[in-house]
Amino acid sequence: MPESTAQLIDGKVYAERLRASVAGQVAALKASNGLQPGLAVVLVGDDAASQIYVRSKGEQSLAAGMHSVTHRLPGDTTQAELERLVGELNVDPLIHGVLVQLPLPKPLDEKRVLALLNPDKDVDGLTVANAGRLASGLSALVPCTPMGCMILLRETVGDLAGKRAVVVGRSVLVGRPIAQLLLQADCTVTIAHSRTRDLPAVCREADILVAAVGRPRMIGADWIKPGAAVIDVGINRVPFDDPVKAAEGRTKVVGDVDFKAASQVAGWITPVPGGVGLMTVAVLLQNTVAAAKLQAGIA
Ligand code: NDP
Repeated sequence: MPESTAQLIDGKVYAERLRASVAGQVAALKASNGLQPGLAVVLVGDDAASQIYVRSKGEQSLAAGMHSVTHRLPGDTTQAELERLVGELNVDPLIHGVLVQLPLPKPLDEKRVLALLNPDKDVDGLTVANAGRLASGLSALVPCTPMGCMILLRETVGDLAGKRAVVVGRSVLVGRPIAQLLLQADCTVTIAHSRTRDLPAVCREADILVAAVGRPRMIGADWIKPGAAVIDVGINRVPFDDPVKAAEGRTKVVGDVDFKAASQVAGWITPVPGGVGLMTVAVLLQNTVAAAKLQAGIA
């Protein structure tokens, strides 16, 4: 296969830059206003992936100089207990951002928990209030992964106005908010999903193609317009290509895009791992600073 033609969008570089910027903002807020942004993360149960994410959120918020609290609750926590904690965090003056790690173990009801969360502290941007504000073109706390995608696009492609953008996936967490953000950036946006007809042809129209599906390497080179910017949100575990490693049951993470093949056609592309995923926590920290300023009435 010939050398890749696409420029690699290195999430590590942009995430580090954003974290450094957040640390600077936190130091300035402390010095000028005596305000230390505080983040509370709530984890229910012992899901292994969630534990890793939560640890990373705690470590990175502390490294940025923030106040950071992690509430680890047992898997048999009741709805009432969880809602009581969220209610307390809603009014805790030291906490400006509250993140309830999803998914919650059954039978806990995520929607009821999110409905209780103070939208001004909703640093994951998942409350109906923030989603509605985003859809109305108003300022909002925006979900972290979609915002991370936008930062990568602006840093690499630059001005997005007038570009044709196709988002594959319409989840509340990823697809819908990315589409709203692309629309705000004056892109012409198509949202594709499992019922879209002739998806490869739809994708081939995209100057910006965002894949948020959850299907390993679904998007091949022939789905991509030459020179397009390809943002791969997907995180999928698959067996190693090497049959020996695969036989040992070892797995690796791949995206929704066939990275090697797509790199021959795209103009820019995010790797998985090492792309969008690294941005998510950095944006969470930025959202917490924004939430702290909002609550303190600082412009
Ligand atoms: P969901 O399962 O909630 O949504 C997937 C979307 O993909 C749905 O809208 C679905 O369509 C669509 N879809 C499924 N199959 C097809 C298909 N064959 N053709 C076209 N569309 C299809 O997933 P999420 O949005 O939560 O996550 C998407 C991916 O992003 C996952 O791999 C997830 O792990 C990853 N992720 C990564 C993050 C990061 O930090 N990098 C953060 C969050 C998620 P329909 O609505 O019709 O069912």
